[in-house]
Amino acid sequence: MNGIANILNKKEFSKEDIIYLLSVKNKDDQSLLFQKAFEVKLKNIGKNVYLRGLIELSNQCKKNCLYCGIRGGNEKVNRYAIPDDEVIEVAKYAQKLNFNSIVFQSGERSDSAFVERISNLIKKVKEVTNPKLRLTLSVGEQSFETYKNWFNAGAERYLLRIESSNKNVYNKIHPNDELHSYDIRLKSLENVKKAGFQTGTGIMIGLPFQTVEDLADDLLYIKKLAVDMVGMGPYIEHADTPLYQQKDNLLPIQERLELALRMISVLRLIAPTINIVSTTALETIAANGREFGLKVGANVIMPNLTPLKYRESYLLYDNKPYLNEVTEESMKELTSSIRSIGQEIAWDEFGDSIHYLQRNKKN
Ligand code: SAM
Ligand code: SF4
Repeated sequence: MNGIANILNKKEFSKEDIIYLLSVKNKDDQSLLFQKAFEVKLKNIGKNVYLRGLIELSNQCKKNCLYCGIRGGNEKVNRYAIPDDEVIEVAKYAQKLNFNSIVFQSGERSDSAFVERISNLIKKVKEVTNPKLRLTLSVGEQSFETYKNWFNAGAERYLLRIESSNKNVYNKIHPNDELHSYDIRLKSLENVKKAGFQTGTGIMIGLPFQTVEDLADDLLYIKKLAVDMVGMGPYIEHADTPLYQQKDNLLPIQERLELALRMISVLRLIAPTINIVSTTALETIAANGREFGLKVGANVIMPNLTPLKYRESYLLYDNKPYLNEVTEESMKELTSSIRSIGQEIAWDEFGDSIHYLQRNKKN
């Protein structure tokens, strides 16, 4: 048996196995990895693809992550916060399109006006939708008390990426201050889980200073955290950020895409029952990038429902697609494109993570 088949047959992977799988370049070997991940997904989750409607609530951010286009220090960005009534209209629109689940994402703020606003929005979305839409939050590091309040207000899921599990890499892509502390980030993720949320994390792939060994460690770390969902995608540079200086030290964009797909596949193999997002960053690199993700192990996609007038102010990275409105027509196209790769949007399900349902049964 050749090297890759040998590894794919193992019940558990060592770090060396994962490095081998992530480093595969030969197309046939890569196809074997992708195929195996797809089989594992079919066996554990079926053909289902879960939709989350993404609402980019606000680009106001107190932080200055060195990679992010909407970092507080980027003075070229027009700052916005979508008024509450517009957010509620988008939630209703999501339901009209038959979405069962939405995500609130925004820059990070933790002042009391913001914290209260999110609590109120959670309650309002729950009031106006029937059946109640499942709600994911992705609004950064907060106190345990805030997480608990938002969970009690009705939000079910929370996504907080650790960005990189390697403290050295983390420190190189963030300013060196208390607001950007690796230890606080990890502690916050612990608190998210303790508060009761279906918990998600993730990392960026193809960062400067990051090696394939680091990525293997990231996967092992994510597995150890026993999270319920993961959103990880390629790092894409943004010209108005400090990390752009490292642009000549990155993998070529096509290689970053393939590396991201291999990461998704290996993650599916080591965490068969979690939800894995096929991210917008994949779509930025290749047309149908999200479908690629679904073919190699991911099972969630997040169509962007943010009203068009705000989208050009939420450019995390260069070339982020922002001009297409999600309409009944575009949803029909998405449905058939997903069907053409042998999968189906699960219109009748909330799409809770099986990993979460199983761990909750045990508690
Ligand atoms: N502010 C919250 C936070 O940082 O957790 C949530 C919103 S933030 C925009 C969501 C994610 O965008 C980050 O966790 C980061 O991984 C990703 N992101 C930011 N800049 C990026 C870039 N240049 N390339 C790829 N992903 C990026
Ligand atoms: Fe702000 Fe999140 Fe961007 Fe960091 S990644 S600058 S916290 S929006």
